[in-house]
Order: sequence, then structure tokens, then C-alpha cells
Amino acid sequence: MLPVKKSRGACNLPTADQFAMKILFLDQSGKPGGAELCLLDIAKHYRDRCLVALFADGTFREQLEANQIPVQVLTTQAINVRKGSNMLQGFIGLGQLAPVIVKTVQLARSFDVIYANTQKALVVGAIAHFVTHRPLVYHLHDILSADHFSSTNQRLIVYLANHFTKLVIANSKASAESFIQAGGDPKKVEIIYNGFSPELYQNHLSEVPKLRQELGSAQQFVVGHFSRLSPWKGQHILLEALQHCPANVVAWFVGDALFGETAYKQQLQQQVEDLGLGDRVRFLGFRLDVPQLMAACDLVAHTSTAPEPFGRVIVEAMLCGTPIVASAAGGVTELIEPGQTGWLTPPGEAHKLAEIIHQCLADPDRARAIAQAAQTSASQRFHLDAVNQQIDRVLQGI
Ligand code: UDP
Repeated sequence: MLPVKKSRGACNLPTADQFAMKILFLDQSGKPGGAELCLLDIAKHYRDRCLVALFADGTFREQLEANQIPVQVLTTQAINVRKGSNMLQGFIGLGQLAPVIVKTVQLARSFDVIYANTQKALVVGAIAHFVTHRPLVYHLHDILSADHFSSTNQRLIVYLANHFTKLVIANSKASAESFIQAGGDPKKVEIIYNGFSPELYQNHLSEVPKLRQELGSAQQFVVGHFSRLSPWKGQHILLEALQHCPANVVAWFVGDALFGETAYKQQLQQQVEDLGLGDRVRFLGFRLDVPQLMAACDLVAHTSTAPEPFGRVIVEAMLCGTPIVASAAGGVTELIEPGQTGWLTPPGEAHKLAEIIHQCLADPDRARAIAQAAQTSASQRFHLDAVNQQIDRVLQGI
């Protein structure tokens, strides 16, 4: 570590700023999923002494650059290992990772800490740690379960985390518990929720009428869904629920098939046609103006059918002051106090979701009061400054 400030007195303990720890962040994705957007906020805090090394090029690099965060893309070759990959596919993938490993080892020598933000990053980071002896931190953004990972991949993550990391930052209690249940070392785990800058999500109300007009929903009740299009994110559940709602209830789907789920995208379009919902559904694709769009919704629906590790969109809806209904599984139950800061429905149950939409339609004052309570609570619980302090503290600890 490089001391940058002189101590003000012999008895003063060093503050976070006094040790300018240089951090090499590793992330496998060129596209901005939730794990990447969380990393973006953390890396902003360290932008003068970090590098984000990506294993793929894409719009995430552009977002990092737009925020003046140093970034380097380590390969342009696609690495074909998925969360569900078996042992053989894993070995083939390791071969494809070889150039990335070589570059990471070279880079790691100039940094104090290696910070792996995704699963492949953990594999590469573990090897770089083994060679360079730089401490390795793993930020776990996943629930280790059969819903999301093959058993080979679960075992690999746990083995690498237990043997090579100094610290595992879990993004929720649910993620931490799944790691420990899969054999992960509980002593290494710190639970730190994602952090957000509340001001980015507030004060967009003046833009709402124009946006709703542009999207043809000036007079309708808009239910927004903000997520990449993927079967387990459950966009089809909201479509099913729409059938049981009055005709003035419409849905905006914000997000795209980021990780190759184009068949699901087509399936959703077919479902819209089959259910005759063409004039009540809009697919808006991937958008950078999520706060403005959320502010323009009457309700945000989260419909994941498998346990969500955290669910950034839930906190974002709260910060925007828009009522939120979410699937009660995984980290989501840590974010919402039902009836106080939002609503929870059983995953996959379209009828229950439709019931909540009906309630919000029937009693908008109550929905508004719940959304306001959620906004106040989320601005405190998930404030980026506090989260960055927590991360600073645990990194100092290693
Ligand atoms: N998001 C976005 N544009 C879109 C759709 C989603 O920027 O068109 C963002 C969204 O605001 C959230 C993130 O993508 O910050 C998704 O994170 P979440 O934890 O909800 O899901 P994940 O992608 O991690 O499964």
C-alpha cells in the first residue's frame, strides 16, 4: 500500500485516505448487468487509483469511460463458459482465458488488491493471486443454487473463494447464506448491500408528462418492468397479470436480452400477440434513463421466478418514489417491508400480482404514501456514501 498523506500525530490511527490502496477490479462482462452497475459505483470512489479490467468489450466500457474510470479490455475473443457449464466446458473455457490470465498477472503486480466482481473474474483473480501474492477479494452478486449455477460451477466458486480469497463481499444475506450452505467459509463473508446516489433518482417529476406523452401512455396506469429479458426475470408473469387487469393498465418493458436470451424475447412478443395485448405493451429495449422512466410509472413490478440475489431495480424504484411490487424470494425480502415500503407476491403467481395492481388502482393515496415511506427509508439504508465507507473499511481490514 502506498501512504499518501502524512499522519497528523503519532497517536492517530490511519484513515482510509492515508492508505491509497490501488485496486485492480476484474469483471468478465462488456455489458452492464446489475453486478457491473454496482462495480461502476464502487470504482467511481477509487477512480484515481484503480483500473477496471474487462474480459469483453461493450457498452459497459463506455459507461466506465464516461465516468472517468480507467478501464482496459483484456481480450476481444468471446469466452464460452456459462454459469451452467459442466467440467469439460470449463476446461475449454480455461484455455480461452489464458491470454486474459497472462495480462491480469502482469497488471496485478502494479496493484495492492485484486477485486473479482464475477465468477470468471474469480477464476482469473485466483490464478493472479497465486502468482503475485496480491490479496484477492470476491464480490459475490449471485445466489449459489441450481437455479443459477451448475453444481460444478458452485463447487469451483466455493473452492476458489475458500482457498484464495481474503474476503467475500456478499450483496445480500440471501447470497451469503447460499455461499455458506454450499460450503463457503463464513469467516470470510461480509454482507454489503449495493449503494446508490439518491439524487440521481429524484427530481425527475417535471419530465414525466412529456415522457408519458411520447410513449403514448398519458392517461393510462403504467406498470414498469426494468430488467434484462431473461426467463427467470419473469417478464411473462407481468404479461399474464395484465390479462386480469382493466384495459387502461399498460406495461413498459425496459431492458434487452443482454446475455443471448433472444428466444425468450421472441417468446414474449408471441405471448403479447396471443393474448391480444399489442396496444397495451411496449418493449423499450435497454435504456440509460431508468430513473426518468421509473418516475413516469405508476407502479414498478419485479417478477423474478427464481430467488433474486439483490434486485437493484427494487431500490431504484423506491428512490424514485414509485410504488414497487416484487417477488418474495432471495435478497428481495431484505429490501421490502410488506405493506410499509412496498408489496411482495409469491414468485410466478400472476393472479397475486394482478391483485396488487388492482389495489394500487383502487387506492392511489395509499400507494403514494407507501412509496414515500420507501423513498425515505431507501435513501438512508442504501446510500452510496455509507456503502463506500463500508467497502473502504473491509478493504483496510485485509
Ligand atoms: N438497467 C438499465 N437499463 C435497462 C434495464 C436495466 O440500466 O434498460 C439497470 C437497472 O436500472 C439496474 C440493473 O440494470 O440497475 C439491473 O440490476 P438488477 O440487480 O435488478 O438485476 P441483474 O441484472 O443484476 O440481474
